[in-house]
Amino acid sequence: MKLKKKIKKSSNYNKLPIWDLKDFYIDINDNQIFKDINDIKNKSKNFQKKYEGNVKNLSSKKLLTAIVQLEKIDEKKAKILSYAYLLYAANIEDKKNKIFLQKIQEKITTLNSLIIFFNLELNLIPINKINKHLNSKILKKYKNWIKISLSYKSHQLEKNLERLIQEKKITSSFSWSRLFDETIANLRFNFEKKELSFTEISKYLTDKNHIKRKNASLVIGEVLKKNINIFTTISNVLAKDKDIDDKWRNFKEPISSRNLSNVVEDRVIDALTFSVKKYYPKISHRYYSLKARWFNKKQIIYWDRNAPLPFQQNKKYSWNDAKSIVLKAYKSFSPEMHAIAEKFFEKKWIDAQIRKGKQGGAFSASTIPSIHPYILINYQGTLRDVSTLAHELGHGIHQYLASFQGYYNASTPLTLAETASVFGEMLTFKYLLNNEENKLRKKILLANKVEDMINTVVRQIAFLEFEKKLHNKRKTSELSTEEICNLWIDVQSDSLGPYVKIKDNYKYYWSYIPHFIHSPFYVYAYAFGDCMVNSLYSVYEKSPKGFEKKYLQLLKSGGSRNYRELLDTFNFNPTKIKFWSNGLDVISKFIDELENI
Ligand SMILES: [Zn+2]
Repeated sequence: MKLKKKIKKSSNYNKLPIWDLKDFYIDINDNQIFKDINDIKNKSKNFQKKYEGNVKNLSSKKLLTAIVQLEKIDEKKAKILSYAYLLYAANIEDKKNKIFLQKIQEKITTLNSLIIFFNLELNLIPINKINKHLNSKILKKYKNWIKISLSYKSHQLEKNLERLIQEKKITSSFSWSRLFDETIANLRFNFEKKELSFTEISKYLTDKNHIKRKNASLVIGEVLKKNINIFTTISNVLAKDKDIDDKWRNFKEPISSRNLSNVVEDRVIDALTFSVKKYYPKISHRYYSLKARWFNKKQIIYWDRNAPLPFQQNKKYSWNDAKSIVLKAYKSFSPEMHAIAEKFFEKKWIDAQIRKGKQGGAFSASTIPSIHPYILINYQGTLRDVSTLAHELGHGIHQYLASFQGYYNASTPLTLAETASVFGEMLTFKYLLNNEENKLRKKILLANKVEDMINTVVRQIAFLEFEKKLHNKRKTSELSTEEICNLWIDVQSDSLGPYVKIKDNYKYYWSYIPHFIHSPFYVYAYAFGDCMVNSLYSVYEKSPKGFEKKYLQLLKSGGSRNYRELLDTFNFNPTKIKFWSNGLDVISKFIDELENI
């Protein structure tokens, strides 16, 4: 019986789909790749010859011609880069792929410098003339694209300075990030007589066994403590480096440059942060008090934060189960989305297989409009994996729908980038919940969802608060390790609340979080997406009539319009606290339900 089961399991794993990248090129020796690179080179050189120093003199019609040419050049670059990146992700241990990706990246970076002048010059067009362009029907399609370029105007430096900063990055901020990555990668954790990497030991933080969780947490704290001086230095240097940049570029707050690149106003993020913090007691504090009760404790300890529930049952879902659940969930909402989702399965746009060397995690790569998105996931059959499939398919459907806007208009700013993905997860969650009759399993589904949401919303906003404090302090002076630890403990105890006990070396846990190093202030993106989708979903539940059409319109718009205009169609105003609390109420109501089960 056991043997039979085993055989069945392994054959199921073999059946997991692998993507087919032939829609790009046959393989890395395909002659078309070299032809495409040459074409980009020639077209970029011609473009530079024709337009450098001349952008301000162009008529609207000629400006349109230039933008269309540039878009084609950029799209072709994205085609080769996407291909190289996906090949690499499919097997990061294959040296051939790694070298190919590096070679392509370097080639494209060099080619980029030929056309870097265009946006800099575009931003220098006198205001009267640029307004004429913006109001001209001829340039309507690229209006938003031009506006986004212009939003950098008051933060850009003179051409040679920009080039210098770009080149110097290799030896400044980039090298500090690299030092961080290398330090983390080299950390070794002695655990149960084995030497583990950080990724390997992290898995034990969600182990069923309390002792294992505890020991893993203690070892992590111990190792971080040993290496803390280097993390303190890296954090200080990078925060100061950013401060210098911000001063030169005229940014008001440390967060402002991130908001600009996300096309979102500072006050919108202020409203989000304020609302989430106000909901800490209603959401995370209340949930952890429940969790403590389930464990028969007054307080859980920080290593129990992500502990599996004492009544957790880990149901396994085969690939076909997952496919059918997610497709049904999408179908119940929108036949159009369902039809697109089906393409991903039928046309080999998904790589779900687990194999040695494949990149971990999951993503959906938009690639370019003339091809289609590709999804990578590592499917192991857990509930989380089903959710991840729904999430990435949401991205894929969104990217597919937006691709009809053309390359420049297809990519959505971060404010909307997580909409379809999180919405798809919600559809799937609701589908599972509504089809579950067993009370205990309903409770498990709900509790898992709430925990996910707390990790996405509350934890990320606590991270954001930590970053704000750190960057603001660093403006005036270097921070000691103790000072950074204190900031961390403050935001953690605020957000986790009185039912989670923080002690020992948890104060060093800020030091391993890669977002702080690689993309400061990025973390709020997760909370933004989750809260916005919760608001959207509650509108849909209250009045489903006509919702699908409006929602699809939002997805199809891609990045062609400002997100505020798109949210307007739902009467949403993200500068208002009310908008965010509507979203947060969704989580709070799930906790009400949990309290009553
Ligand atoms: Zn996502």
